[in-house]
Amino acid sequence: MNTPCPKVGIVSLGCAKALVDSERILTRLRAEGYDISASYDGADVVIVNTCGFLDSARAESLEAIGEAIAENGRVIVTGCMGGDEAAIRAVHPSVLAVTGPHQYQAVVEAVHQAIPPQHDPKLSLVPPEGLHLTPSHYAYLKISEGCNNSCSFCIIPDLRGPLASRPAADILGEAERLAEAGVKELLVISQDTSAYGLDLRHAESNWRGRPVRAHLTDLATALGDLGIWVRLHYVYPYPHVDEIIPLMAEGKILPYLDIPFQHASPNVLKTMRRPANQEKVLGRIRSWRETCPDLAIRSTFIVGFPGETEEDFESLLIWLEEAQLDRVGCFKYENVKGAPANALADHIDEDVKEERHLRFMEAARQIADSRASAKVGKVLEVIIDEVDEEGAIGRTKADSPEVDGEVYINGETDLSPGELVDVEIEAAEDYDLWGTLVARKTPARRRR
Ligand code: SF4
Repeated sequence: MNTPCPKVGIVSLGCAKALVDSERILTRLRAEGYDISASYDGADVVIVNTCGFLDSARAESLEAIGEAIAENGRVIVTGCMGGDEAAIRAVHPSVLAVTGPHQYQAVVEAVHQAIPPQHDPKLSLVPPEGLHLTPSHYAYLKISEGCNNSCSFCIIPDLRGPLASRPAADILGEAERLAEAGVKELLVISQDTSAYGLDLRHAESNWRGRPVRAHLTDLATALGDLGIWVRLHYVYPYPHVDEIIPLMAEGKILPYLDIPFQHASPNVLKTMRRPANQEKVLGRIRSWRETCPDLAIRSTFIVGFPGETEEDFESLLIWLEEAQLDRVGCFKYENVKGAPANALADHIDEDVKEERHLRFMEAARQIADSRASAKVGKVLEVIIDEVDEEGAIGRTKADSPEVDGEVYINGETDLSPGELVDVEIEAAEDYDLWGTLVARKTPARRRR
């Protein structure tokens, strides 16, 4: 026997924008398998989307909430008046949850709490923003597959084929749906983000009635219009990356670049089959930082590559010291089945690889520590990732989830994941920071 679908009723007050908000909430709930009830008594829970523009609208909202409580009893409040939770709870303390305007994700979560969604493979459609394994406030946005390079240690081009970019409108549509579903941070990924669109000859596609080229500069500009954090990963320092830095300085996208340099010695880079002009790269890093002083650069390196001499390794340490990278990961070289590097001469002993790895990580830690210490005393914007009984843990714009540092805000237990806050930094150690809450911020919102 089939169990009936949980039913949600909605009372939508206010303007057309509020009505669109109600439609979005219902669309999302319907896609999750909820039924929509046209009457109070047929609903398992009722959402009241309020208006708080005028006093008369606030009075009408409070009256509508009272009516829904009297008729149904299980009420979730959202919309403009939801921004004033105290006023609502003063009159109607029994409401199940109160969320503010445009907080689609929070409303949907409140409905989940009140009546958990049922899984029915015939009815539970995938939500428009797709299924995600990340926490609901950030999401990865893959802009292309495959790779046209032929680094000697890598078999990804064999496994995934040559570069295949998605049209810009396709990516921007997905990004927009994610933002509408409550995602606050997009992590742009690919094998080679700077090469985006080369295979499409940078063809234009239409987004929001205007043409957008399949080119990193245009894509980053359009993503910057969504009003949420946008972070670029796997960027190679092609010349047009210079065009992205002003977008970071303007605050359109995060001042963060993840560039997998892999090494700095010209000999090693040559056998890795990667471009080998790290001196020039140092000059560009300097000029990027002049344009955007807050720029954080993350990178990964391989030590113990076949043929790497002590001199090559030391030149890498010197380069690292000059580049003053903010975040660094390091791998000891390993053969990958099918990779050309396996056949190179002069493979390095494991104990030498281990010793270089330790030296490299210590040098990187010291740089990160001094760069983190320079943040003490500053007020930084932080996105909250987790809240537990001890306080909140978040990240600054310089920290990508899972791989970079964290900010610990002790004692702040009523913040929520995805919330943006200002934090005064009081202490730093290695990659992490500790601070106190200065202000809670309304998340940036996209304008139509
Ligand atoms: S390491 Fe990266 S850039 Fe090089 S071939 Fe592999 S996927 Fe492409």
